[in-house]
Amino acid sequence: MLNLFSNAKQFQKPVCHITLCYKNNKIKLLRKLHSFSPDKKYNVVVVGGGHAGSEACAAAARMGAQTLLITHKKETVGEMSCNPSFGGIGKGHLMREVDALDGICGRMCDLSGIQYKVLNKRKGPAVWGYRAQIDRDLYKKHIQEELFERTPNLDVLVASVEDLIIKNPSSNSSGQPVVDCCGIVLNDGTQINSDCVVITTGTFLNGQINIGTKVYPAGRIGDKPSIGLAQTLASLNLRMGRLKTGTPPRLRANTINYSVCDFQKGDDPPLPFSFVNDAVWIKPEDQLLCYLTRTSLSIESIIKNNLHVNRHVREEVTGPRYCPSIESKVLRFGGRQHQVWLEPEGLNSDIIYPNGLSCTLPEELQVQLIHSIPGLEKAEVVRPGYGVEYDFVDPRELQPTLQLKRIKNLFLAGQINGTTGYEEAAAQGIIAGINAAAFGLHKPAITISRTEGYIGVLIDDLTTLGTNEPYRMFTSRAEFRLTLRPDNADQRLTGKGFEIGCVSKQRYDKMVDMKEKLEDGIALLKSVSKPVTHWRKLMNITPSKNAMQKRAFNVIDIYNEGITITMLAKVAPELLPLSYDKSLENRLHIEAMYEAAAAEQAEEVKELRKEESLVIPRDIDYNADNLNLNSEEREKLLTVQPQTIAAASRIPGISPSSVFRLLRFVKKVPQIESAL
Ligand code: FAD
Repeated sequence: MLNLFSNAKQFQKPVCHITLCYKNNKIKLLRKLHSFSPDKKYNVVVVGGGHAGSEACAAAARMGAQTLLITHKKETVGEMSCNPSFGGIGKGHLMREVDALDGICGRMCDLSGIQYKVLNKRKGPAVWGYRAQIDRDLYKKHIQEELFERTPNLDVLVASVEDLIIKNPSSNSSGQPVVDCCGIVLNDGTQINSDCVVITTGTFLNGQINIGTKVYPAGRIGDKPSIGLAQTLASLNLRMGRLKTGTPPRLRANTINYSVCDFQKGDDPPLPFSFVNDAVWIKPEDQLLCYLTRTSLSIESIIKNNLHVNRHVREEVTGPRYCPSIESKVLRFGGRQHQVWLEPEGLNSDIIYPNGLSCTLPEELQVQLIHSIPGLEKAEVVRPGYGVEYDFVDPRELQPTLQLKRIKNLFLAGQINGTTGYEEAAAQGIIAGINAAAFGLHKPAITISRTEGYIGVLIDDLTTLGTNEPYRMFTSRAEFRLTLRPDNADQRLTGKGFEIGCVSKQRYDKMVDMKEKLEDGIALLKSVSKPVTHWRKLMNITPSKNAMQKRAFNVIDIYNEGITITMLAKVAPELLPLSYDKSLENRLHIEAMYEAAAAEQAEEVKELRKEESLVIPRDIDYNADNLNLNSEEREKLLTVQPQTIAAASRIPGISPSSVFRLLRFVKKVPQIESAL
């Protein structure tokens, strides 16, 4: 079905197949020739078939742009390089937003999860983290089928991109030199022209693998690095940096003693990632278990006594703070046990991913380390862990559209921009893909603001603050957490996506239908009013003497004691129809819970913006309990010593909520004139 060529020179034979095409946002069945030719003029070329690249090429093609995905290997398109899971706190939000823009990762996860679990359930739904253990092979199969067989306007070529076609040197309005990128050059010298290019090469730019003292060039295990492209980007005078990450050894499932481990079940019912799905593919009872063990203290001596043979740990390059290697955890937090989640890699896989044990010791010492952990005494190490170092481009080189400021038609997305994680990559990929297509098709670009979505927070943080360590998403990075919820991502973004042409009519109609139901439901809940005493009595809640009238909508908000619309309907039968549709009922419930709190949050943000110039006293105690800063924030504030609240808010890694607490804290301290 697909015209995949292992080499550009073999392209001659066009392949005839049936494909689906969005035209005027309607799906049409078309018969077309799906052929790649170096002479063909593509609107968009996407380099790299990882998570950013998959979303980028799918989005560009959905927009109607003639799109070519060029990637090293067909079989690694959609590869999960590290953990066999998607989502989590903050990351799940990104996935819901990618899905709201008709992206593919959420739908594919609904078809390939083996354990679905929403994290943070004890907190409010605004910060729930949709997450699933994913069957690696199934995920790749579904992504590849989606891209290769069901995506119109998309050709795929297996090759390595070594260089860019750069033309038309000129200067921009501020006098800076600007060039155009008009296509790419393959390793065999073939040139492919395009209106624009999206580079999503992940950890491959000058990638270098470390295990113990062994060092060799590679993008990830079994894959060549991308050297030529790294040289091209550096020669274009882009600011670049170097980061590192790592992955744990993999274990044989049937050699683990699970009886000494705790276990975790999936949710029943499992919640789908995608707004278009009401359920996931797997039955709740068929979900696999994950197990939890903890390291013993004996790993400390294995790690500390062998630092001289552990090159990756000694390197000065910065690794992921929130996904650290076991070596960094031991060196930073000695004398502790560390959690190790034993996660299955698939339904039919006999491999276990020991989450939390990323390490780069020599192979024989990794085995020793594994065998010192309860439950893993006899575990077979199938593959050693390793570390990878790679180049990234300073994301401050980018505009919020993810287009480079100084190379007009070149877009970057994913780990190349200093992020870590599949979800962060997918979120950038979809925006870069949409905007590259918009550029090629002469449509306006799309940007997402911080008030519209976590995607906006991610891109704004990267493009304005940059990053000096692998950036991952957290809910604390968003100022408007209470309105940027996973439940309402469709209401925030689907309309915008439809307008620009990356969302199908079917999905748009579904969103509009829900929007109308929500509006009607909220109006109905606000129209039913009773005295507080009355509500409490009827719902068997401790009586009060409060005779004030309360609307049904606000009853949910103020009590939040497990009161459901179904319960309210017993008191006010006119609300009964709202309880027939469980998905609507849940969404109305969440809207009611957050109405007042979201307004309060907006006020806080306003106050913060007004007081930005407030001076921070030099002797401020960043360790004060009521400041409640995390260790990253304390470390960064102590190092930077910002002079004002505005300066503190611009330090990468300081969350908006912490800046607000800092503001409140400083406001209580008398302002010292000499602080500056
Ligand atoms: P990738 O998924 O890496 O995809 C890049 C694609 O580009 C590949 O398909 C590659 O073949 C292709 N490519 C590269 N160069 C060229 C070229 N010149 N021509 C054609 N194709 C090219 N994330 C976490 O969140 N936590 C972790 O603990 C973690 N650990 C990791 C450990 C390792 C060893 C690695 C490799 C990654 C790890 N990651 C981790 C990162 C996670 O895998 C990435 O964030 C994510 O995959 C990035 O997606 P991407 O699309 O940017 O790049």
